[in-house]
Parts: sequence; structure tokens; C-alpha cells
Amino acid sequence: MSLNITQQYCLQKMGIDVYVSRQDNADNAVPPVDTGVDLPEWASLRSEVAACTRCELHKGRIQTVFGVGNVNADWMIIGEAPGRDEDQQGEPFVGRAGKLLNAMLHAIGLQREQVFITNILKCRPPGNRDPRPEEVVCCEGYLKQQIAMIKPKIILAVGRIAAQNLLKVDTPIGQMRGNRYEYPEGNIPVVVTYHPAYLLRSPGEKRKSWQDLQMAMKIYNSLI
Ligand code: URA
Repeated sequence: MSLNITQQYCLQKMGIDVYVSRQDNADNAVPPVDTGVDLPEWASLRSEVAACTRCELHKGRIQTVFGVGNVNADWMIIGEAPGRDEDQQGEPFVGRAGKLLNAMLHAIGLQREQVFITNILKCRPPGNRDPRPEEVVCCEGYLKQQIAMIKPKIILAVGRIAAQNLLKVDTPIGQMRGNRYEYPEGNIPVVVTYHPAYLLRSPGEKRKSWQDLQMAMKIYNSLI
């Protein structure tokens, strides 16, 4: 049976020896494919986050919220921090804001399962207060590693907290949106838009968010 490079890679990852005939090798003589995240490395990061006690937030959490979606995603969506629903379910953006985020993604032709969704903080701040700078510092290495492993083609930062912390600026979100930024490690384009929880409170701003999403898709299409 002839195996393509992706099949060979998956079998190797499952610990199955792969013998490839010279002829098959010749047939498969395509440039090396990007094989995506190293799954053991990813699993080890996930375990490290689950056991994290770097900041005080670990004391009040039900569980950490690592992130969800496709580890080989082109799109990474970064929010602020888990809320009550996310803390209970261990998944980002599952509450009302999450439903709106899903709809926003649908609007530009993306399924939730296609992208990778995570937050600046992996634990819920009590009473849904803003993340504190020291909490962001404790958590940022995890996000940095997630970005380095996934290597998204584009990052969508939702909300002020995500945008400011990701890009290390204190510009108001109203001034940030509409511009293309760059995440320095990997020169990944970053587009900023309003947080869906804000859009639920201010539905009149949805039109601006739609413009941001269209801009993000235009940038993405120019890259592929
Ligand atoms: N708001 C966020 O920023 N992230 C979540 O996961 C949920 C709500």
C-alpha cells in the first residue's frame, strides 16, 4: 500500500514502524509538508497548564481552560480569560459571548472547530474582574508556546485586554481596530476587534466588528 507523507507521519506518531519502498518514496517525492504541532509536546504543555499554581487564580478555579479547536489551525482567536461557564466546562467561549463569537466566525465562513480558541489567562479571575498584570505575566509563557506550536497564519484578538496584552500596548481598542498589527514572534498578522460580550451590550457596534472580520479575512486570503 502506498502511503502519503501525512499518513506516514501519523503512523510514526502512533509508534508504528513504516517501511516505504523505494518506488513509493519516489512517488511521494513532494516537498516536506508542515506536520503541525508535536503532539507529545502539546500534551505536556496542556498538563503543565492544568497543574499550574503560578498565580493566586489557581485557588479559586474549578479547572484551567487551555483552549479548544484545531491544533493545526490557520486562525487563532484570543480572548481575555475564562468566565464562570468556561471555568465550569473547561472550554473557552461557551457562554453567551461564545455563541456570538461562533456566529461571528460563521459570518466569515469559519467553523469553531476549524480555528483554535484560547485566552490570555487560563484561569478565571473572580467576579470576572480584569486580569491583573502579574497574572498576565505568570500566564503569558503558556500562550507564547501555544502560538509557537500552532503557528497560525493570523491571530484575531477579541477585546481590549487580549489586544493590549498580546501586542504590549495600552492604546484604546477603538483606536486599535481597523489596523493590521504583527505578533513579533513569527511575524504573525494580528487583527483586533471588539469582545463579543461588549457587542452583546452594545449591538450598535456589531457593524464595526463585521468590518474588522472582513479585514482579517482579506489579510488571510492575501497570505494563502
Ligand atoms: N470571555 C473571554 O474573553 N474568554 C472566554 O473564554 C469567555 C468569555
